[in-house]
Amino acid sequence: MQKYVDYVNPGLAKLMSFAGYGVEDHAEGCYIYDHSGRRFLDCLGGYGVFSLGHRNPKVVEAAKKALDNMPLSSKVFFGQAYADLAEKLAQIVPGMQFTFMCNSGTEAVEGALKAAKMFDHRPKVISTVGGFHGKSMGSLSATGKDKYREPFYPLIPQFDFVPFNDVDALNAAVDDHTAAVIVEPVQGEGGIHVPNLGYLPKVKEICQKHAALLILDEVQTGFGRTGKMFGMEHSGVTADIVTLAKSLGGGVVPAGAFMGTPEVWERAFGENPILHTSTFGGNPLACSVALVMIEVTEEEGLVENSRVVGEHLIAGLRAIQKEFPEMIAGVRGVGLMIGVEFAMDDIGELCIASMVKRDVVAAYTLNNPRVIRFEPPLIMTADQADTVVEVFRESVEETSELLAAVLG
Ligand code: PLP
Repeated sequence: MQKYVDYVNPGLAKLMSFAGYGVEDHAEGCYIYDHSGRRFLDCLGGYGVFSLGHRNPKVVEAAKKALDNMPLSSKVFFGQAYADLAEKLAQIVPGMQFTFMCNSGTEAVEGALKAAKMFDHRPKVISTVGGFHGKSMGSLSATGKDKYREPFYPLIPQFDFVPFNDVDALNAAVDDHTAAVIVEPVQGEGGIHVPNLGYLPKVKEICQKHAALLILDEVQTGFGRTGKMFGMEHSGVTADIVTLAKSLGGGVVPAGAFMGTPEVWERAFGENPILHTSTFGGNPLACSVALVMIEVTEEEGLVENSRVVGEHLIAGLRAIQKEFPEMIAGVRGVGLMIGVEFAMDDIGELCIASMVKRDVVAAYTLNNPRVIRFEPPLIMTADQADTVVEVFRESVEETSELLAAVLG
């Protein structure tokens, strides 16, 4: 921990120590073990990375095989794993045909924005207030949180923001100069906001009216997180470009991707196939792992488990909201993408510390610290969800008593 203070990021070290975190040592399934051997139930899932839990054996086996064979690409030959993964993604991501592999969510968004600009050379992009798309300069231009943006002004010009789930505001913002609208099917870091079912179809309609592209950012919602394989499937809307990352790497390696329709690919990369490139993107290690991650998700019924255990967990959390209405303003979510909104600032942080004390890992959403997120591995059982609810109840009670003592 001292080395974090001395050599990594002193402020971050302080935050992590406040929350009660020690040094992570190893992990398996839904559990993380720290340096002292203490076991924590992982209810954060690495911000959506650990959909299969930690070190799924089939994924680890695929990674080991790639390590023994050829983990990184020569970048001159065709790659079997890249081809197989791209084919599989085209089969399961609605409306998408072509895949560009990269290494993270922010890179996926960078590529998506570049493809959208190449499509028709239009200047404007519309995003949503509270939307999170990454923190590199292009994706940050689309991230709707001033705190992260302002220190880096000027960002890419002509990015505008409208409230999420507000059709009229979007209608007023999109015009014939709009290259793309970028939106998450469920807003994650903004505080887990599930839109009305009619929202995405309207977004698509508005895009089509102005021949603007729709970019759906499925970096967090993809691969079963919301109780459907992809968040867009709740409303049946397809996009022109889709971004993927987080759980794509099976919880074992970093991986990201953006996908597009044949028309997008032709217009973006038809003339110059090396207009957008990545040294590490498409490496056999990440691609073979991603393919196995999808197979495991399908074979083990994890999308359905996400839906069922998610409903169970939401019901448990709502019961606690009823018990502590002065502390909890709302419980919302879909599948195992769940947020609890507190009634006041700073309660979330206290509550997280209290949960960690009781061996459950949680965190707040990046763009909305009032919201604690519950995004456990999709392999979580109903019994484990009950443990989470019990621990959360004790933590809310403890935080409420603490506040009463401080505020009088
Ligand atoms: N897009 C969404 C919807 C995200 O939730 C995130 C990260 O939380 C990103 C993009 C950025 O991903 P990364 O942190 O891998 O760059």
